[in-house]
Amino acid sequence: MVDAIPREYIALPGGTIRQVYSIESSDGTVALGDYQAWLASRAERCACGRVCRGSGRTCGEPECVRRLGST
Ligand SMILES: [Zn+2]
Repeated sequence: MVDAIPREYIALPGGTIRQVYSIESSDGTVALGDYQAWLASRAERCACGRVCRGSGRTCGEPECVRRLGST
């Protein structure tokens, strides 16, 4: 499951918008992290080690889908 975390957007030079999250640590400082990287670090993993796609249980590769179906 994905926890609810504070999400923010920061504007990068060049007009790019990046989705980040902020975490306040115990000493009061706020750290910004890359939201997509955070998601990826917590995401469900396929048997092959890649991040699962969407709500699926595999990375979407045909061989992995087949393996899931055969178990
Ligand atoms: Zn896979």
